[in-house]
Amino acid sequence: MPFYITTPIYYVNARPHLGHAYTTIVADVVSRFHAMRSEEVFFLTGTDEHGDKVVRAALKEGMTPRAYVDRISRLFRDLWPDLNVRPSQFIRTTDESHMAVVSRVLQRIYDAGDIYFSEYEGLYCFGCERFYTERELVDGRCPDHQTEPETIRESNYFFRMSRYQQWLIDHITAHPDFIRPERYRNEVLAFLREPLGDLCISRPKSRLTWGITLPFDEQYVTYVWFDALLNYVSALGYPDGERFRTFWPAAQHIVAKDILKPHGIYWPCMLKAAGIPVYRHLNVHGYWNVDQGKMSKSIGNVVEPLQMKDTYGLDAFRFFLIREMTFGLDSNFSEAALVQRLNSDLANDLGNLFSRVVSMTHKYFGGLVPEVEPEMGRQYGLGLGPEAQRTIAEYELAMNGFELHKALAAVWEFIGRMNKAVDVSAPWELAKKKTTLKQLEAVMNSLLKGLRLISGLIYPVMPETAARMQKHLGLDPDAPFYVLDDLRLWKPVPAGTRLPKSVMLFPRIETDTPAPGTAPAAAPSPAAPEAKPEIDIDDFRKVDLRVATVLHAERVPKARKLLKLEIDMGERRTLVAGIAEHYTPESLIGRQVIVVANLKPAKLMGVVSQGMLLAAGETAGPVLVLPDKTVTPGTALR
Ligand SMILES: [Zn+2]
Repeated sequence: MPFYITTPIYYVNARPHLGHAYTTIVADVVSRFHAMRSEEVFFLTGTDEHGDKVVRAALKEGMTPRAYVDRISRLFRDLWPDLNVRPSQFIRTTDESHMAVVSRVLQRIYDAGDIYFSEYEGLYCFGCERFYTERELVDGRCPDHQTEPETIRESNYFFRMSRYQQWLIDHITAHPDFIRPERYRNEVLAFLREPLGDLCISRPKSRLTWGITLPFDEQYVTYVWFDALLNYVSALGYPDGERFRTFWPAAQHIVAKDILKPHGIYWPCMLKAAGIPVYRHLNVHGYWNVDQGKMSKSIGNVVEPLQMKDTYGLDAFRFFLIREMTFGLDSNFSEAALVQRLNSDLANDLGNLFSRVVSMTHKYFGGLVPEVEPEMGRQYGLGLGPEAQRTIAEYELAMNGFELHKALAAVWEFIGRMNKAVDVSAPWELAKKKTTLKQLEAVMNSLLKGLRLISGLIYPVMPETAARMQKHLGLDPDAPFYVLDDLRLWKPVPAGTRLPKSVMLFPRIETDTPAPGTAPAAAPSPAAPEAKPEIDIDDFRKVDLRVATVLHAERVPKARKLLKLEIDMGERRTLVAGIAEHYTPESLIGRQVIVVANLKPAKLMGVVSQGMLLAAGETAGPVLVLPDKTVTPGTALR
């Protein structure tokens, strides 16, 4: 059976953050799960690149829209390998093939009579060159210009969405899991109780040219949502592509709750009007609230959570995101919660079990997996066989229903039973007597089987750890060891397999956070540097601190620590920074930094550095200081 999963295509007016990473990791996890079932999988992600917000973001950076979208789109594309996310395709709405599909679908709906020309009246800010809704205004004024917008009328094209309202209500009612979890289905149905208006799908070229020209009126470009949603079919080669025929009927989308309405209402109506069957499921998740107060090693920027993967390991980061969030609800992201999960679920439960069982195999059998007679296996197998089947069934059900946290909970329940089985069977006692040797062999064999199963089941979330476990069970980590039908067979690690020496899968993180109630509030932090003498404001003003955008970054040849940066600080400058051991050049491009602009130029390894980057001097390495929001390059700090 084919399986098709999509993330939203991400809007390029901002850089990737935790929310994007979460959605895309979820898509990767379910893709890998469906591959475990030997299904044909297609996983699509990409970027949404048209519209006035992109034009304004580009202008702010002094770039053309084309150059700007190329840059930000690359940041997204380059992030996925870093997160071990493997999409089948990365689509951009500026791709020619996508633009051709948008024209084609527009023409089709237009010919069918579902697009009409009419006047639109709204609140327009001439400074921003855009319409505002009442809700976007602050005290009735444009938030950027502090002026009252004017009511203007404009002629535009409209999609007759209202015609499909009853059809959509019927469809959702007949397919209870069309939108899931249920709370979002209810939200869409509640919205549909009110009359559904028609959708304005054009923008006159007099105020926006960065878009797809309407095929039936070249004075207009397509509204960005109408353009973007069609990526889900254009990527498959709609209408005649082989992929479209194979994968479209199995389509599932993943979105965050803020874009429920376009995906739950506009999109099905568009599909219906275009004569395309609707998708199968819309899977909606909540928000991550980033608890900045608890990000001790970080600097309170929304990008920071992504750096936790470097601090604690990618698999631990992926595990935390999938295990911590109940799919559909909001969740809190904090470093403390991540460390807590790492220590308890990964280091303690899984890591200890693994190293215990592998070490005992070494201790009692010289690292060779013992041979077991079937009868002994049944008698002394600790009952793990039936537990394994129950676990697989629960896991599969939860994965299919997009309850990924529950799938992991089922695996951890099994891990808990395994740990208990070790304690109850006490192999160290069985090893003391010759008469219990057969029993010891059966116990160890069953425990190794259990580890083999666990390595398969954690594969979608922690592919690297899964392969590592395989390797340390003496099995081929490159073989598709995670095939679900195979796991159901509850196969032993073959007798005679030699296990490599035991390994620590997840080292415990020592936390220096004192237990609640014991914190001596007045005690100075041991890391606090000695205070410097007071200065007055004039001394401070001598330092010219400015925000800059990194345009380009590369390593300085033969210098382990140095990066050469081209920055935009209102003017272009070259800087040399000693951060190469902690930041890759790619991770810096497009980011904003703080620069001491009036530092005397200095020559480092033959390169003249015209200024200095600000970083917090952590013992673990420098941590760059970034502005909380994007600001115009060259802006002074006060
Ligand atoms: Zn304005």
